[in-house]
Amino acid sequence: GKQTGRNNFQFYTPAMNEQALERLRIEGDLRSALDNNEFLLHYQPKVDLASGRIVGSEALIRWQHPQLGMVSPARFIGLAEETGLILPIGAWVLRTACVQCRRWQLDGHDDISVSVNLSVGQFLQKDLVISIADVLEDTGLPPASLELELTESLMMTDVEHAIGILTGLKELGVRLSIDDFGTGYSSLAYLKRFPIDVLKIDRSFVRDITIDADDAAITASIISLARHLKLRVIAEGVETDEQLDYLRHYGCDEIQGYLFSPPVPAEKFEQLLRQERAV
Ligand code: C2E
Ligand code: CA
Ligand code: CA
Ligand code: CA
Repeated sequence: GKQTGRNNFQFYTPAMNEQALERLRIEGDLRSALDNNEFLLHYQPKVDLASGRIVGSEALIRWQHPQLGMVSPARFIGLAEETGLILPIGAWVLRTACVQCRRWQLDGHDDISVSVNLSVGQFLQKDLVISIADVLEDTGLPPASLELELTESLMMTDVEHAIGILTGLKELGVRLSIDDFGTGYSSLAYLKRFPIDVLKIDRSFVRDITIDADDAAITASIISLARHLKLRVIAEGVETDEQLDYLRHYGCDEIQGYLFSPPVPAEKFEQLLRQERAV
């Protein structure tokens, strides 16, 4: 009503600070970013600890803004979710990552896989399973070479519905991973009902693993849990040799982090793959 309108007016005009302005600007620019080809993907290697080889890549979106420069996803993924723009953006990420991964495979890196982060909006999209099947068919990427990273909160909003979607995705043959594991509020009882393949230990636990006994215990427990549930387990945010030693000691399967490589452009990732073949 009128009252609300006036309150809004009073609230916004004097209080419109830099942050709110930036938000408005980013939201406006986000609408045209896809058409203007301003997004790109960086890829971060996932390294298998048993073989020491790169076995996968996580696709991470970047926004090359014409004035602001490189904008990190932390600054626009939330907005993209609120505005619904995450649907076209997410579809672009998925297709681009699958095309890229298939190219690496055809270049002789047969075993490389790609992981894509899925947001809530995408997950709840009616035709998610069909659209992923389409992308796999169009790009020729084997389903087992695609991994979807999902968060606990995304799956816990409606557990029964989530299990239905996850089952549909599993039937396609794609791999499913729980991202940021341990930071959400999923119940262990549900874990066995979710048809997932991988647990990804959040960076917040890995960070202090060598100095904080609690973080070390939590990490060791997640690895043990994964083993018993016959899931693969990967640690993210590995930055030091000491962290790596701990993770290896506890039996972690894979690592991802600055220690090995930050997320890099596709050409750089391909270089990493080639270097590896040369040794
Ligand atoms: P995430 O899925 O947990 O991704 C891991 C984040 O940790 C990435 O940040 C990565 O660059 C960073 N990272 C990797 N190794 C290290 C390390 O050793 N140390 C430190 N300090 N950080 C490390 P990034 O790329 O800024 O992405 C942030 C978040 O944005 C992601 O967190 C993910 O939730 C979201 N995101 C990124 N790309 C996409 C996308 O294409 N779609 C969706 N829905 N979300 C995305
Ligand atoms: Ca992720
Ligand atoms: Ca994380
Ligand atoms: Ca995440």
